[in-house]
Amino acid sequence: MSASAVIPPYYDETHDALRASVRRFVEKEIMPHISDWEEQNSFPRELYKKAGDAGFLGLGYDEKYGGTPGDVFHKLVFSEEIMRAGSGGLVASLGSLDIALPPIAKWGSDVLKEKVIPQVLSGDKIAALAITEPSGGSDVAAVKTRAEKVTTEDGEFYKLNGSKTFITSGMRADYYTVAVRTGDDGFGGISLILVEKDTPGFSVGRNLKKMCWWASDTAELFFEDCLVPAENLIGKENTGFFAIMTNFQSERLMLTSMANATSQLALDECMAYVREREAFGRPIGKYQVIKHKLVEMATKLEVSKTMMYNVAAMMHAGKDQVKAVSMAKNFATDTSDFITYEAVQIFGGMGLMRESKVERLYRDNRILSIGGGTREIMNEIISKQLGL
Ligand SMILES: Cc1cc2nc3c(=O)[nH]c(=O)nc-3n(C[C@H](O)[C@H](O)[C@H](O)COP(=O)(O)OP(=O)(O)OC[C@H]3O[C@@H](n4cnc5c(N)ncnc54)[C@H](O)[C@@H]3O)c2cc1C
Repeated sequence: MSASAVIPPYYDETHDALRASVRRFVEKEIMPHISDWEEQNSFPRELYKKAGDAGFLGLGYDEKYGGTPGDVFHKLVFSEEIMRAGSGGLVASLGSLDIALPPIAKWGSDVLKEKVIPQVLSGDKIAALAITEPSGGSDVAAVKTRAEKVTTEDGEFYKLNGSKTFITSGMRADYYTVAVRTGDDGFGGISLILVEKDTPGFSVGRNLKKMCWWASDTAELFFEDCLVPAENLIGKENTGFFAIMTNFQSERLMLTSMANATSQLALDECMAYVREREAFGRPIGKYQVIKHKLVEMATKLEVSKTMMYNVAAMMHAGKDQVKAVSMAKNFATDTSDFITYEAVQIFGGMGLMRESKVERLYRDNRILSIGGGTREIMNEIISKQLGL
């Protein structure tokens, strides 16, 4: 039995049907292979196609471009269920389209939308978002990769020079939504532009080795006099900062959901383990110290989930939730930090073994208070919202 008692009032039969369908998908297509994929630092590209065929990748996107009708709660259901495989890396890579495509869907030209969105939602192509640079990720307004407008005999282009790092799905993406500097210093000089893999002057560096998310590829990208057609600009020139900040809101909700799912999985693992593992002649779950630990884990998780559903409801209602989602992300990652740490503790030596799920949950969890805006940056946002 799951240790959660949160029954959000936001789910109807369409969400239940989606949950059942994603759960079957995870059990059939992912669970039998995930440990191997983690060790191989990759998963087969055909999984995108399978998820696309099932309509999962298209959730919430316009049907005109191959999307599947759905609201923010359908997205949460998908996130909660796909995380059951216990691989943040798989979820991050399979889901990189959800940080790369929204700016195109919201602000891209019709030509860009028609070209890019259907192919990505079907799983035929992979999309990535490239903001972070070697000089920093938190200070988005300081993006250095420059895009200079040039005219050649073939038409108008932006000439890109610079580099990006830590880009999820960066190794095998076909399309990159890239933050570039088209104007002056500061947030008012940033634009988003779509770069295709085979563009001359664009290259992909190493697949970076990391502590977490082994099944996900994480890349460096280089632009050297890379000529990108001017029509690949997403939205108006120098309006990219607003688009990036808007995009962060849904990314932060999804990271909150990943943290809560991580906590839930770790807690479920512990609930089973404390019943079977014995020390000093008794199941360890009989010791009050362990019981209270589990109670604290479960209580924090309940609060965290309630915050998350509340933020989702605000998003659903079109309300401003900048403060709420930043708080929810920090609370969820504090909770998952606590729960994954205690889960490894409860498992003892077995908690350090790759064969136990809590080992991977502990590692995968570490990124969640860093990616999509660090804990400190969330606090900066919250303090501004509080008028401090
Ligand atoms: C596995 C992985 C996947 C990623 N995927 C992507 C991706 O797909 N696309 C992408 O664009 N990026 C991606 N990132 C990058 C990620 O978004 C950044 O790592 C993150 O935003 C932090 O930036 P940074 O690493 O440059 O840290 P820095 O910005 O250098 O910050 C270093 C430290 O200083 C703190 N700090 C910074 N400013 C302040 C301040 N004003 N007040 C207090 N403290 C501050 C930070 O909180 C942090 O603790 C990924 C990162 C990882 C590890």
